[in-house]
Amino acid sequence: LMTSTYSHFLNGQAVASNSDQHSDVFNPATGEVIAQVPMATQAELAQAVAHAKDAAAVWGDMPSARRARVMFKLLELLNANIDRMAEVVTREHGKTFDDAKGEVMRGIEIVEFATGIPVHQNGQFSDNVASGVDQYQLRLPLGVTAGITPFNFPIMIPLWMSAMSLACGNAFILKPSERDPGVGMILAELMTEAGVPAGAFQVLHGDKSAVDGLLEHPEVKAISFVGSTPIAKYIYSRGAELGKRVQALGGAKNHMIIMPDADMDKAADALMGAGYGAAGERCMAISVAVPVGEGTANTLIEALAPRVRDLKIGNGMDAGVEMGPLINAAAHERITGLINSGIQAGAELVVDGRDFKPAGLENGFFMGGTLFDKVTTEMEIYRQEIFGPVLSVVRSESFEHATQLATDHEFGNGTAIFTRDGGIARRFAREVEVGMVGINVPIPVPTAWSSFGGWKASLFGDTHMYGPEGVKFWTRQKNVMTRWPDTSLDKLTGAFNFGAAAG
Ligand code: NAD
Repeated sequence: LMTSTYSHFLNGQAVASNSDQHSDVFNPATGEVIAQVPMATQAELAQAVAHAKDAAAVWGDMPSARRARVMFKLLELLNANIDRMAEVVTREHGKTFDDAKGEVMRGIEIVEFATGIPVHQNGQFSDNVASGVDQYQLRLPLGVTAGITPFNFPIMIPLWMSAMSLACGNAFILKPSERDPGVGMILAELMTEAGVPAGAFQVLHGDKSAVDGLLEHPEVKAISFVGSTPIAKYIYSRGAELGKRVQALGGAKNHMIIMPDADMDKAADALMGAGYGAAGERCMAISVAVPVGEGTANTLIEALAPRVRDLKIGNGMDAGVEMGPLINAAAHERITGLINSGIQAGAELVVDGRDFKPAGLENGFFMGGTLFDKVTTEMEIYRQEIFGPVLSVVRSESFEHATQLATDHEFGNGTAIFTRDGGIARRFAREVEVGMVGINVPIPVPTAWSSFGGWKASLFGDTHMYGPEGVKFWTRQKNVMTRWPDTSLDKLTGAFNFGAAAG
């Protein structure tokens, strides 16, 4: 089988890498290697940063209304290319085509927000804060910025970062996941067609060494990272040491609490989508269900088990398929190990997906839907992020105990409660120590007009992604005080000499 090698996208064009190191890109549904991706050399990295610096000087000086117009054009082009991008996502990631289209659309929403950048990037103006003195703030671009993205949303997360960074007037270098880098190249093509100047949006392929190179380079002023917690923590602390602005989003273990008064059918359906959609490879996936009361737990398991057994698993491009494969063989092996550890620790395996293989796709990285009951908090399957189609049911005796579970967990990305009781739901939303809360909404991803971010080990840094917090992250603030000569003020400045007083 002949495979192609991805190019970098530097200074407005595809550029073949000189690297002698490459990594395989698979189609996870078939298990075949479909492409190679180069690991950038340090010289290629230095080139990318130099182009970005030149581009940032021009792009950052452009009126914001003109940058907004480029975002409008990008929006048009992205909308016209949804299917084309989604196909590449399904081919390299494995999620279903419908899910891939949904991912592209969630990314597009960030570009919709970015078209309003002249308003979003405004500062405040305080009139006459001292005699004849006005004060205002500028939100200026940072210059060269970079984004390091995970495999599980190969287009949405690059758009979370790049649309906001570019709209704010920065140059942006994307270091996509080496497991599914293809759709990032389409984004580069569309950015260029939309009028983003050469060097303002670039794609540099690689792994740890490229990431470290970006982190260490003095011209790279801000790094946005999404991925696993140990690497998020590393990027955040190393970046801080080097005086950079960093936001680093990490892993998750999202709990959904099911109160006895909840609509159990709706709760079970919600859990199927939130637990098994994209084979559980979502940072907002629900991986722990916490039914309150024995009756609730029994009803929930009865509702879930047949649904999990009936999941239609196969190639994400095929119609009717509800769940695709895992990303690679290593993930399959790791998750199998975790399921084994759950059985050994005494959890009750209600549905076992370990040996599932769809007919005709025996070499794909498939795992069947897996359901555990009677999981307890000291088990590895409870403590670790599994990032696969494995749902753990932890039975709880009270609302307070269930809420405490989510609060006590190391991760604090998302959580949900299913109930008909508004008072309980409100209390949960206010008290639980998790960054994003859903009330009868299983995956509460904030819209583009708000900002996305978890708490605790799910986010290092203090600004969330996109929306108003995104503008804050991708700009730096300057405060300006002005006093203009005005003779009518002479009597005032005589009485109160502001310069001397403040000096
Ligand atoms: P990962 O941490 O393995 O990789 C993320 C990125 O870091 C990739 O671009 C990769 O090339 C790079 N990288 C890998 N090893 C590195 C190292 N040692 N040093 C520097 N860079 C390195 O994550 P993944 O497996 O691609 O993605 C899954 C993880 O991402 C899960 O933990 C998931 O919860 C998390 N995630 C979190 C969010 C969120 O919003 N909090 C969203 C999506 C995914």
